[in-house]
Amino acid sequence: MIPVIGDREEIRRICEEKRNAGIRIGLVPTMGALHEGHLSLVRRAYERTDFVVVSIFVNPAQFGPAEDLDRYPRDLDGDVRLLESAGAHAVFAPDSRTMYPEGYSTWITVERLTEGLCGASRPGHFRGVATIVAKLFNIVRPHTAVFGQKDAQQAAVIQRMVRDLDMGVEIDVAPIVREPDGLAMSSRNRYLNPREREEARVLHRALTEAEALLREGVTDSAAIRRRVLSVIGSIPGATVEYVEIVDAGDIVPVSDVSGGALLALAVHIGNTRLIDNMLLIPEKR
Ligand code: AMP
Repeated sequence: MIPVIGDREEIRRICEEKRNAGIRIGLVPTMGALHEGHLSLVRRAYERTDFVVVSIFVNPAQFGPAEDLDRYPRDLDGDVRLLESAGAHAVFAPDSRTMYPEGYSTWITVERLTEGLCGASRPGHFRGVATIVAKLFNIVRPHTAVFGQKDAQQAAVIQRMVRDLDMGVEIDVAPIVREPDGLAMSSRNRYLNPREREEARVLHRALTEAEALLREGVTDSAAIRRRVLSVIGSIPGATVEYVEIVDAGDIVPVSDVSGGALLALAVHIGNTRLIDNMLLIPEKR
């Protein structure tokens, strides 16, 4: 059995011993309810480092007051079984009081990159994300941390924070793992009823249509965006929160994708908010 550690000082001590022995440490931060997308990150960390720590913490600071913190799926025992087979060496699963003790007052705000996309509708979300990731980095002090392209804005925010605050952690971003029909894997997919699950296929279908347009030579962001909106608009149960074409590093809108861009979207299917994205990289002609 891999150790499941809730105590901050214990995981800190274990990691420090490893580091002092010259062992490279990998960290995969998660909120649990693990699926194949998370496990792909763990396997990447296993290939790149010698001691893989997976954190499982449903971080209250990144949920808004009207969001799904209370009903967010939790299954620590199931998660640990999956992690064992994926090659993790230790699980850090603290409780909220461990991470935010009485009197907690320090927050990290990454500016600019957090204004658009998910940041626009989820005020404070990235402040919560950046803060918890910085805390995990300080406790585990990993050489490498692996994040998923699924949360492209989050990956950009973490990369910016690491550069700006000289954290010295290598950030590895892993590709999106999808269900056979294209739906990006997400812990929130289990909220979908069978009809909604069917409707949710539209996210990937819209991204694929955008890619097809690009292959036809269309690089105008407005035209690509219009196509995506019209595909999503064909599904009555789908409500668009945003469809944006931005620079993948700065998360600022770009009017043309000739230099490469990130197409990101958030769509509500019933009461479930889903995000997905695709890097638009024009073929060299
Ligand atoms: P979460 O548990 O949702 O906070 O996700 C933890 C990490 O797993 C984040 O870095 C996510 O980007 C990543 N992740 C979630 N879903 C996927 C997926 N379908 N493919 C790749 N990475 C993912």
